[in-house]
Amino acid sequence: MNLKIYIDGNFYPESEAKISVFDHGLLYGDGVFEGIRFYQGRVFRLEEHIARLWDSAKGIALEIPMSASELTAATLETIRQNDLHDGYIRLLITRGAGSLGLSPDSCRRPSIIIIAATIALYPAALYEKGLNMVTCATRRTAPAALSPRIKSLNYLNNVLAKIEAQQAGAAEGVMLNEQGYVAECTGDNLFILKGGRLYTPPVNAGILEGVTRRVAFELAEKIGFVVEERDLTRYDIITADECFLTGTAAEIIPAVELDRRLIGNGQPGPVTLKLIEDFRRLTQTTGTPIYQ
Ligand code: PMP
Repeated sequence: MNLKIYIDGNFYPESEAKISVFDHGLLYGDGVFEGIRFYQGRVFRLEEHIARLWDSAKGIALEIPMSASELTAATLETIRQNDLHDGYIRLLITRGAGSLGLSPDSCRRPSIIIIAATIALYPAALYEKGLNMVTCATRRTAPAALSPRIKSLNYLNNVLAKIEAQQAGAAEGVMLNEQGYVAECTGDNLFILKGGRLYTPPVNAGILEGVTRRVAFELAEKIGFVVEERDLTRYDIITADECFLTGTAAEIIPAVELDRRLIGNGQPGPVTLKLIEDFRRLTQTTGTPIYQ
């Protein structure tokens, strides 16, 4: 696939899409990003992703050098340039090229990069049989160190946890916060169902406030559940009736095992499967049109 990549107002073939080795996004992970999905010619929850990008940028004192509507237009144009109807967008704003010192003052202008591609995070079978998880020893970054609400280019915390999960043969890793409560998975938010009620860790447990998490709230409400944001422990997951994860790339996916202990009966539960079905319908029928 030879993609056309947007960098600072121009489109480049994949092989020529390059940034400076002095970009502080590379040197320090100094930047922010978004992962966005589009389905059947429509971008899902584009406004919410753009709004979070602006909040993330504000969180790291970075001024995005264009308006939200200009960036939205550039995003849609990038998909059109690649003639895609279903896929994934990676939108990055880096601090830009500067000197080797870490002060952003030397960076003249933030760089805007937009990649539109295709993606499949988990194999289709996992949506039917559910995935296994382990608890990671790596704790989620403490909000006082770097707010997990900022979707920054500094993803090492999650990468290290992902490595742990992979080394343990698990599809995902559950990350705890400094207090030992469940925060989220390495790239997804986590929900449980217990006794007919849905629970998920609160934002101040130190999580990324997922766009898909919010969609799950909406879909759950439509079928008569109110999601309660509550501190959860490993015990809550292991004793839950159902568990599922939410994320732009993963969508809604069942989780059936934690640390080799079965969750519920070890099969995806009916509420999870209903939410997956409703989520798919929503992605197929709503969103910002790309081609009209
Ligand atoms: N938590 C983390 C750490 C993430 O990186 C992501 C995004 N992959 C999520 C949660 C889910 O967020 P969203 O639903 O907005 O993709």
